Formats: sequence, C-alpha cells, structure tokens
Amino acid sequence: MGKIRRIYKKENFFLLLLVALFAGSQILIMIANKVPELGVYKGVFGALQYGICLIMLYVNIEKGKRIAFTLILLSIAGLVGTVLHGNRDALPGLINALFYLLTIAIISNFISRRERESRTDFITGVKNRKGLYLSLEEKIEDGNEFYIAYISLSNFKSINDSYGHAYGDEVLRRIVARIEDKFNATCSVSRIGGAEFVISYDGSVDAQDMADRLLATIREKLTIEIDDTKSDCYLECFAGVAGYPMHATDYEALIKNADIAMTEAGANKSKKAYLFSNEMLDKINRQVYLRNLIKEGLAHDYFYLVYQPQFELDDKKLRGFETLIRMKTPSGEFVSPGEFIPVSEKSDLIIQIDEYVLLRAMKEFRDVVMKHPELTLSVNVSSKNFADNGFVDKVKRLMEVTQFPGSNLEIEITEYTMAKSMELTSDNIDKLRAMGIMVALDDFGTGYTSLNYVASMPIDLLKIDKSLIDDIENDSKRREFVRAVITMGQLMDCEVISEGVENDNQINCLREDGCDYVQGFVWSKPLMYEDAIKLTETIEME
Ligand code: C2E
Ligand code: MG
Ligand code: MG
Repeated sequence: MGKIRRIYKKENFFLLLLVALFAGSQILIMIANKVPELGVYKGVFGALQYGICLIMLYVNIEKGKRIAFTLILLSIAGLVGTVLHGNRDALPGLINALFYLLTIAIISNFISRRERESRTDFITGVKNRKGLYLSLEEKIEDGNEFYIAYISLSNFKSINDSYGHAYGDEVLRRIVARIEDKFNATCSVSRIGGAEFVISYDGSVDAQDMADRLLATIREKLTIEIDDTKSDCYLECFAGVAGYPMHATDYEALIKNADIAMTEAGANKSKKAYLFSNEMLDKINRQVYLRNLIKEGLAHDYFYLVYQPQFELDDKKLRGFETLIRMKTPSGEFVSPGEFIPVSEKSDLIIQIDEYVLLRAMKEFRDVVMKHPELTLSVNVSSKNFADNGFVDKVKRLMEVTQFPGSNLEIEITEYTMAKSMELTSDNIDKLRAMGIMVALDDFGTGYTSLNYVASMPIDLLKIDKSLIDDIENDSKRREFVRAVITMGQLMDCEVISEGVENDNQINCLREDGCDYVQGFVWSKPLMYEDAIKLTETIEME
C-alpha cells in the first residue's frame, strides 16, 4: 500500500472521530437547551465544535473543509429554524455559528492556497517535486500503466549564465507552454530541478517515440523577447524513460530508474532518449560495488603494479617500462584497470590511485634507474590529476621522497586532459619538462581533440593507440593512416611508440614506416616487478 494511501486511511479515521465529537457536543447543546442550569455551558459546547472544525482542517484540508462546512451549515439551519419558531434565545448561537463559518472559510482558503503553492513550481506553474510525488502516487493507486520521461536540459545553465535569470525563467515557461500546447491531453508536466522536468504519459503510447517527440519539441528554436530585445536560443536535452509497473512499482523507484536511464542517455553522443533496462541497473550496482572495493583496496592495499617493457624498434633495445596498476582482492577477485580506473575517475579516488602509483613505481625503480640512467619509467596520470594546479608540486614532492631523478620519469596523459583545460595542461607540461620529466600522449587517435591543439602541445612521445595498429599488416588504408600519424609525430618533434603490437608482421610494417618504439604482447606482456628487474639485469650481461 502506498505511503500516501496509508496517510489517507489514518486521516479518515481521525475525521470520523472528530465528526463523532462534533455530534456529541451537539447533543450536549440540545441537552443544555432543555436544562436551564446547563444553559451557561452552551457557548462552551459551541466553541468546542468550532475547535473540532479547525482540527478537521488541520487533518485534511480538502475533506476537513467539506465536512466542517456541512456540519456548521446543519447547525446553522437548526438554529435558523429555532429562531423562526420565535425562540430568540438561539440568536446569539446563530450569530456565533455564522462567524465560525466565515472564519473557517477564510482559514481553509488560506491553507488550500498554501498547499497548492507547496505543490507548484512558482516559475512555470506546473507541479514541483512534491506535486509530482503526490500525482504519481495517485496514478499508481489507479493501477493503470504509465511512463515518465525524466528530461534534463543540458545547456540551460550556460543560457542562464549568459543571458540572466529573467531570460532563463522565460525559457522554462516557454518550454512548458510548448509541451502543454502540443501534448496537452496526453502529458502531465512537472519541473523538479533547475533544468529537470518529469513528464508522465499514458502506458498505451510508444514510450520511446513519445520521448523522442518530447525532446524534438524542446529542441525547436525558441525566440525570447526581454526588454524589447529578441534573441533565439536552442536547448539541448536528453531523457530517461521508465514505466509503471514495467520498471518499478513505487514512485521513488520509478523516478530513480528514469534517472538512471537519463544518465545513460547523457553519456551517449547520438541517441538522446533511453528506456530503462535492468542492465542499466546492474551497471550502476557494479559501479557502486567497485567504488566501495576501490576504497577498501586503498585502505587495505589490494593494488600492485606491473611493468610493460617498451623497446626500440630497430634493435629491440629496452627503452623502459610503462607502469600499469592491478587490483586483486584477498578473496582472489581480479578487477581490470579498464574497469576500475573509469569508475575511480568519476570520483576523487583517482587522485589517491595516481599518487599511490607514482610513489610506489618510483620507489620500486629508483635503484634500477640509478644503475641504468638510459631507462624511462612511464606512469599514467588521469586528466583529473594532471589538469590541476597542484599536480606539478605533488610530483616534485614524491620525487623528493623517493629520490627519483626527473630525467628517468615520463608522465602519460591523454587528449581528455587537454580537453579539460588547454592552458593548465600546457603550463603543467612546460613545468614538468623544465624538471627533466618527459610527457607522452597516450591513446593517440581515439580522442576528439582538435589536431591543432594536439600539434601545439610540447609532447616528447606520441603513443599510437592499439586500435589504429590492429590489422595494419592486412589493411593498406589503416597502414597509410598509421604512417601519416608517424609523420605527424615527427613534425611535432616528438618520438613515436606503437602500443598493443601483437605480431611480427605489424613490427615489420612499423619498422618500415619509421616508428621509433614498440610496446605490445609481441615482445613482452606486462611483467611482475621481479621479472621486470630480471629484464633490466640482462642489459648488464649484454
Ligand atoms: P593504456 O595506458 O593505454 O595501457 C595500455 C593497455 O594496453 C594496458 O592494459 C596493457 O596491458 C594493454 N596492452 C599492451 N600491449 C597489448 C597488446 O599487445 N595487446 C593487447 N590486447 N593489450 C595490450 P591495462 O593494463 O588493462 O590498462 C588499461 C588502461 O587502464 C590503460 O591504458 C590506462 O588507461 C589505464 N591504467 C592502467 N594503469 C593505470 C594507472 O596506474 N593509472 C591510471 N591513471 N590509469 C591506468
Ligand atoms: Mg598508458
Ligand atoms: Mg594507451
């Protein structure tokens, strides 16, 4: 049974009790009319009835108002009858009752208005969050199938910031008016956040199609006129859809599931309305599980490092190692960094992970690089860390703690780092290079950054992503492409390494095309620390 339904049941019981009390006091008034000694108490019983009516309004304004009016009108009718029969003693009681009626009308109107306001969004006039909850509970009580589309206006904040709040408010009002105009009979709109709407519609319509049409309606051009100035704006939006009872049987879960689908839609570049599925929930649950596991892992050290060798392509001479993190729980569960790094990047856990890796890798390799100053230790650093003011100082501090020389350290960043802040990335690269540290651009060829930006970055090493290397031995177009990237690296004055190289044919192609280094299973998988050390020891024997 719904929360609100339970409240209704309780309220009905109280109202019934109050009606009984009212009737009881009416009987007492009638007795007082007959017994002259009790006549003085009539006013007290009348006031008691008035108080009972006020409590009714408090219990439930709508029902309470109706019952209180009925009861007072009944007693007024009785009193009018008595007065008309010539009993003037009833006159003061009648006047009292009329005043009670008036004050109850005023008070109930005031409370009703407050109630309505508390369920209404004051900017757009549609239901707010509270109003939505109540209406969804009512719909669920009705038992018919319906959908809700949870819609977020992704660029609303920037519109608000650029044009001002009056403009933003007008945009919201116009969006609501447009949806109500177009879908009035089928939809019910609520605004539950700054730029978030929930629109409910009938379960008989095609949920996906309806959500697509709602989004298309919101995206149409808006012309707003403020202070005699007209300007056009276009809203961007995405939506998550969940249905009752298909995806949830209470309103909280329904909104939560639509929100989950909306998050999925927000992360997607092309499709903008998503229907909730259990896989989405599994994904969220997995992320929550992983986030907790990472926290636990940082506290109880479930992490260790492996090192993948990098070689010169010409003579297979060891260039150095890329540090790669691994996680294994005491129960033997292994989680790949491809899974837990993106989860930790969504929170600040990545800050701790990157610091852990830098510190541990430099500690483990300090003596090795002292012995072999030609070796480079590469460490991946997330964009969240690198595009931060304090990053360079952090590296400096860790280098001091470990006594690791800057000239043996390389930091791998990706294009996402540049996308975060070009200026900060460029500043930090300069500062690191001034300390002798090299900077590599990882996963090159998979990002969306403008080539112009990438080319202007003072990078030491370009890492061609595995996805570009795959199949170059068979696909001449791909090979041409990789060749062009190698040329680009040369034009940028940096060296080029291919990662994810898996066979000798690829090696031959890359060698012919002038690539400098290679990293991949073909020559070595990532090694445990002890095996990496053994590999460096072979250098001494050569
Ligand atoms: P990445 O930095 O591009 O690392 C290269 C990934 O390719 C590694 O996967 C490596 O094991 C894999 N790889 C190397 N050669 C081959 C090959 O020939 N074939 C195939 N199929 N794979 C190859 P891994 O270790 O699973 O790491 C995945 C990603 O996780 C890394 O991509 C990096 O983005 C992230 N990551 C790993 N360790 C760290 C870390 O310590 N800190 C941060 N921030 N991210 C890390
Ligand atoms: Mg890397
Ligand atoms: Mg990579």
